[in-house]
Amino acid sequence: RVTVVGSVNADTSLRLAALPKPGETVLAREAAGSLGGKGANQAVAAARAGARVRMVGAVGRDDGAPLAGALAAEDVDTALLTRSERPSGRALVLLDDAGENSIIVVPGANAALDDDAVRRACADLSPGDVLVLQHEIPAATSRLAAATASAAGAAVIWNAAPAPVRAADLVEHVDLLVVNEHELGAVARLLGLEPAGAEADVAAVAARLGTDVVCTLGAAGALVYRSGAHVRVAAPVVTAVDTTAAGDTFVGYLAASWHLPLSEAVRRAAQAGALAVTRHGAAPSIPTRAEVEHGLAA
Ligand code: ADP
Repeated sequence: RVTVVGSVNADTSLRLAALPKPGETVLAREAAGSLGGKGANQAVAAARAGARVRMVGAVGRDDGAPLAGALAAEDVDTALLTRSERPSGRALVLLDDAGENSIIVVPGANAALDDDAVRRACADLSPGDVLVLQHEIPAATSRLAAATASAAGAAVIWNAAPAPVRAADLVEHVDLLVVNEHELGAVARLLGLEPAGAEADVAAVAARLGTDVVCTLGAAGALVYRSGAHVRVAAPVVTAVDTTAAGDTFVGYLAASWHLPLSEAVRRAAQAGALAVTRHGAAPSIPTRAEVEHGLAA
């Protein structure tokens, strides 16, 4: 069973020829709304991967119903999704014809998660359960979740995204840290390490934090560091049209595959991430388990 404690957003994606420069006004071809937020995306990915999933988070009392409904439609348990006086979190995603994106996030209700709900959800976990955290809610809440889940015997996966900026953003009691290259550099710097390339950095960060580390490398797949050894996992060659939620798809699939050997779980995650970049949108781009297995068998 996978429990995600994290963000839920209403995404608006705008497709345009080129991203606007400061002071410039541009026209978008179309606007599309969907469920987003790193927490929700990862919950959807884990559910599509076949896991039983619970989402712990907060949405607005007035505008949160469609978001809760979208999660429930994916078979994600939303009993611990609390309703806040603040509006739901929002993300504005600008995507240009070259596949470049710029994203603005307004945290809203995500900044006000209910600590009691988090504590209850995490104290309830047992060995074999997986807790998944990101960095789109207050770090103090993630730290509380990790400590509580770890004491209950669950495995804790921390996707340190967006990149942490202060030492206080670092989460302890983590079994597996998942980062992209940019986030890896940020974590290394916060630990007082001088970034020296992904291979060296995963080893140094793993030693400091006492965790295993997976660094995603975009089209180049992922680098796994466990028990003092590096393993590289390739991603299939695809035509990328929108990289939004590739990392979230990767993390959700990895969490759902936790019972497998880590390199096998990462292979599934890399396949799922690659399929996600071939489609537009955040949650809508996340592939199903059947699609991922088809890709792995090809
Ligand atoms: P993030 O979106 O968090 O920066 P990455 O870009 O590293 O994360 O992508 C996460 C995973 O998605 C990669 O490990 C890989 O498996 C897959 N992926 C991303 N971009 C591509 C691509 N262009 N081709 C194939 N796979 C990709």
